[in-house]
Amino acid sequence: MKKTIEDVNVQGKKVLVRVDFNVPMDKETGTKITDENRILGALPTIKYLVDHKAAVILCSHMGKPHNVFNDTLKLNKKEKAKIDALPAQEQEAATAAALEKAKKDVKKLSLAPVAARLSELLGQEVIMAKDVIGPDAQAKAAALQPGQVMVLENLRFHAEEEKNDPAFAKALAGYAELYVNDAFGTAHRAHASTAGVADYLPAVSGYLIEKELKFMGGALENPQRPFVAILGGAKVSSKIGVITNLIDKVDALVIGGGMAYTFAKAQGGSVGDSLLEEDKIELSREIMEKAQAKGVKFLLPIDTVIADDFSNDANSKVVPTGEIPAGWQGMDIGPETQKLFAETIKGAKTVVWNGPMGVFEFPNFAKGTIAVAEALAQADCISIVGGGDSAAAVTQLGFADKISHISTGGGASLEFLEGKTLPGVAALNDK
Ligand code: AMP
Repeated sequence: MKKTIEDVNVQGKKVLVRVDFNVPMDKETGTKITDENRILGALPTIKYLVDHKAAVILCSHMGKPHNVFNDTLKLNKKEKAKIDALPAQEQEAATAAALEKAKKDVKKLSLAPVAARLSELLGQEVIMAKDVIGPDAQAKAAALQPGQVMVLENLRFHAEEEKNDPAFAKALAGYAELYVNDAFGTAHRAHASTAGVADYLPAVSGYLIEKELKFMGGALENPQRPFVAILGGAKVSSKIGVITNLIDKVDALVIGGGMAYTFAKAQGGSVGDSLLEEDKIELSREIMEKAQAKGVKFLLPIDTVIADDFSNDANSKVVPTGEIPAGWQGMDIGPETQKLFAETIKGAKTVVWNGPMGVFEFPNFAKGTIAVAEALAQADCISIVGGGDSAAAVTQLGFADKISHISTGGGASLEFLEGKTLPGVAALNDK
């Protein structure tokens, strides 16, 4: 078990908190936040620290400002290649224009608008530093009083952040007496602010990471049974790690989405023009054999909605999975499969779901994904939805409050379900 903010004394202490303020911004202005859920998610931890009279120094990354590091403007490789391909006499002007644009784009990745919104949400002043480890941040952090909140500028304005540079981590740690990590979305990365900083400070989790560990860790270590995993999405290859780890733990493995056709092919079925990973057919067969040997129920779609074109308005019909004709492709699980999967969810005590059941971006092929989300919302079980597409689907459908836990990290939750150690979690102190 990892220590949380409630296991340590924070009163009167300077606390460095790694949050996930990587919120989507309006592309044009770069000042309007288009989805503030991640700021809302960080509030319980921030409020706890403020209420307990800590001086709170928040840090986060925002976007990918890879063309400006340490105030030195550099063009990224793609941009540079474009300019190199121009006639020699045009290159100088093109470089200047590209640098000017890069400067503007990078300004759009400032955390200042987030600090302003946070101030409204907290109902108190939030101090914004102009830099990360520069003189402005240092002076503001030194002057910060208990109960006050400040935000450092975008961590990724420094290349050292993602390189987990020890001097950069030490400089961040120098602001504080305690480190709190509450950014699960970057916990699978060993960066200076997610891992390195814990070499210099006592390190505990905030409420968001605590909840991720409680639900996902609980399901993996000691699930209430029957334990069912539902996996979907485009490719077998991106979920192999999860399947291999979960097959030793679950009572039933349910497969939907584009990855189902490689399994259907492995069973000898015809999949027409559906998504197929030829080089994973053999592996899919082995997985099914392993499931059988272990007594793990392995459920593939029994019927499939197919289309004659990859578009929302394509002609469509329902056929048994494994009988998809040439010229047609699987787009969603069929109605019989919806019922089968819903019944399986109903009988479960723990369900982990990751990946859509079909091309849910097209409303005509979203029914299977909606049916699974609905069944999960109605089920009397511990329901855990991995980040990414399935989390977005559940939230958009308005089922979020009926799910026990929706992970805040796409890549991180996948790696967690693969059984990997997340550097941002490993760095925290044990109870
Ligand atoms: P992933 O990122 O691997 O979870 O995959 C999510 C993507 O899988 C979504 O964009 C879906 O549109 C896509 N997907 C799901 N089912 C299918 C399918 N039957 N054919 C093509 N793409 C699919």
